[in-house]
Amino acid sequence: MRPIQMVDTKTQYLKIKQEVDDAVLQVMESSAFINGPAVSSFSKSLAGYLDVKHVIPCANGTDALQIAMMALDLQPGDEVITPSFTYIATTEVISLLRLKPVFVEVDRRTFCMDPASLRSAITPRTKAIVPVHLYGQAAPMEEILSIAREFNLYVIEDNAQAIGGRYLFSDGTQQMTGTMGHIGCTSFYPSKNLGAFGDGGAIFTNDDALASRISMIANHGQSKRYYHDVVGCNSRLDAVQAAILSIKLKHLDAYNLARQTAADFYDQAFADAASLTTPYRAPYSKHVFHQYTLLLEGKNRDQLVAYLNERKIPSMIYYPVPGHRQKMFGLSGNTLPVLPVTDWLTERVVSLPIHTELDQEQLSAITKAVLDFVG
Ligand SMILES: *Cc1c(COP(=O)(O)O)cnc(C)c1O
Repeated sequence: MRPIQMVDTKTQYLKIKQEVDDAVLQVMESSAFINGPAVSSFSKSLAGYLDVKHVIPCANGTDALQIAMMALDLQPGDEVITPSFTYIATTEVISLLRLKPVFVEVDRRTFCMDPASLRSAITPRTKAIVPVHLYGQAAPMEEILSIAREFNLYVIEDNAQAIGGRYLFSDGTQQMTGTMGHIGCTSFYPSKNLGAFGDGGAIFTNDDALASRISMIANHGQSKRYYHDVVGCNSRLDAVQAAILSIKLKHLDAYNLARQTAADFYDQAFADAASLTTPYRAPYSKHVFHQYTLLLEGKNRDQLVAYLNERKIPSMIYYPVPGHRQKMFGLSGNTLPVLPVTDWLTERVVSLPIHTELDQEQLSAITKAVLDFVG
């Protein structure tokens, strides 16, 4: 059996090696390393794929979130509502910009923002909402968007884990995740569903004015060369990465399908295991399984991780400490938000390997080991 990895970017690369190598060489030959045709052509293809008007590439997903928030012209102390149950990048940039992250609950089935918790956290200082399409499942956008309209709030979607996912509205229309709010952000970190061979990120919007502000901010606040209208930053997608991403974008649907097929295998194998809750698939969402995350109840999770590890099966806890309990935010005593669902999930989640290159033999070995442990 091939060794089991959390992600297997090498095997995936080998299947498209010639095409990728040619594209990288072409960038070298052209020597257009900064911006240039590789970057603009990728941005255009991604905009077409997502059916969104503007794609502004940038250096990574964290920058994407930061630039998106800078574009909204918020004032220090303005409140931004976000789940605590997410990767730190979502919430860190809020504090970095001297805004106030307001942590809310997630739904225990979808792992995504709970609209009731969102509604109750709104104050006169609330300016924006950052829902996260966590693990590849869309957040309940219909409710979130309707609350945002009611209170006139911006919505920035953190789509770093769900590119290629879709949301099905109750009127039957569908939209790609990341394109429903005012701004969407994504990451091309190598292990993401659309991963580069290094860092990368992008920002999406259908709003022309926001798009030009975002492009300006990502480029030193420059409206025209050497004329700087606002304080910005330097955040660019590398041309080599863009060339690679153009190729991988053509495979994204197949990659997401491979993830779903692996998830189906796990679901079936674990269907009768009482101590395991398999990932809920919200009827409104096309889940693209960035992670396959189980809830383990009545068994010791650390022992499961150790048991799998002894059998050379990796597993991960995403994430061991929720945002509201991270030291960086300095919340304690009566400033510490009460988020029992988030805490409950944090103690019980465990993610199994999921990627595009898992074969039946590996999947069987993983499920057998998990089932042997839970008995
Ligand atoms: C990966 C990730 C990011 C940040 O992406 P980087 O490219 O690593 O900066 C942001 N939010 C979520 C939910 C992520 O998973």
